[in-house]
Amino acid sequence: MVFDYLLIGGGLASASAAETLRKEGAGGTIAIISDEELYPYHRPPLSKNFLIKNLKSEDIIVYDESFYKNNNIDVLLGTKVLTLCPQRKMVETDNQGSIRYGKLLIATGSRVKKLNVPGSNLRGIYYLRNISDAESIQRATSYSKKAVVVGSGFIGMELASVFAQMGIRTTIISRGKNLLARLGSREISNFFENYYKNKGVDIISGDTVKEFQGTRHVNRIVTERGKTISCDIVAVGIGVVPETAFLESSGVSLDNGIIVDKSMQTNFQEIYAAGDVTRFYDPLFRAHRRVEHWDNAVKQGKIASKNMLGKKDYYNEVSYFFSDVFDLSFDFLGYSSNTDERIVNGSIADKSFSVYYLKSGILRAGFLLNRSSSEADAVRDLIRNRVNVGKNKSRLASLKIPTEKVIAQ
Ligand code: NAP
Repeated sequence: MVFDYLLIGGGLASASAAETLRKEGAGGTIAIISDEELYPYHRPPLSKNFLIKNLKSEDIIVYDESFYKNNNIDVLLGTKVLTLCPQRKMVETDNQGSIRYGKLLIATGSRVKKLNVPGSNLRGIYYLRNISDAESIQRATSYSKKAVVVGSGFIGMELASVFAQMGIRTTIISRGKNLLARLGSREISNFFENYYKNKGVDIISGDTVKEFQGTRHVNRIVTERGKTISCDIVAVGIGVVPETAFLESSGVSLDNGIIVDKSMQTNFQEIYAAGDVTRFYDPLFRAHRRVEHWDNAVKQGKIASKNMLGKKDYYNEVSYFFSDVFDLSFDFLGYSSNTDERIVNGSIADKSFSVYYLKSGILRAGFLLNRSSSEADAVRDLIRNRVNVGKNKSRLASLKIPTEKVIAQ
């Protein structure tokens, strides 16, 4: 087989790229290769409404079969790419033989990190990455009365809120002292700790799993610090790693992800990458970053596909993600790494506040919980324009700072 545009990975980045290729006038053949059995779907609901509202696969797919047929896009489901040979412009698959390409997009996403402690293979221990994982958790929640969530990142916090809302007695085990530690804010962590505790969720911080116990099915966890917690299901969310194993001997530059420039191009001219799997150059923060969120997959899929068509489109975004837990929604804009100051705006007690992250007076990131979209827009502009709010901090609360005051640095 040969395709003009071959997209590896059945997630949102590939769906967005395929759609953009046709919209932007690609005339040749297009194929998506996916190792899943379902057309590309949205992942954010998997740890939220998919479980709470008992949704089905058709509720979360990006496009149904007719879209791919009408746009003449082949989708090879249940197919895994084993190796890539850039010199021959060819991939080897597990069940479709070799496939050649004109231009290639790698959008293979990431895979979950696994806990490797005694009892890890017991039944009732779940990870969440794809729809079949979510379906397994859906089934398990129908009998569960007592759940333990290991990890207090995005998956851990979202699943704990889902379990508690289903009436399941829930305990979070957080290795670090801070919840949502990647957000780097004690204020945010304290807020969620109080909020979850008030909703009946137990939180054990500064501890981790030493052993899972049970005969066939997990029924107890022993922690490193000697606590014993009984449970009938466990959900583990301890992070992900980019899915690049099949590229090890391909010559594609890898370093905690596929290295791409701002046009999403790899070190090979015909090969691009998008989404979770990339460590891309972010010109706004002058750093190579990996962003594992929905919005990034959509945007990078679009940018990569335009460049595959020979157009010039560069990554120039303020990265963004959202989360919903219980009755709360929050947005996060920008990049909080290496910041040296945080300013809290609004009222934590009223569950409506933002945290602004600054570096040398320049706004780099904003966390907004139950805030207006106009505040989000203002924060996005301030971050995009690298505004130094150093002398205007008191005005940050009203966001009355001219966004055109750009600092060249
Ligand atoms: P994550 O947000 O990186 O959080 C990982 C958590 O696991 C952290 O609390 C970390 O603790 C802990 N941890 C890491 N290794 C551990 C170990 N060996 N033992 C115990 N705890 C350990 O990852 P995630 O929650 O698993 O989410 C997976 C991916 O899905 C991420 O890429 C995330 O961005 C994405 N996701 C996004 C959303 C959203 O955008 N709303 C929602 C769900 C998932 P430390 O702080 O101590 O390292």
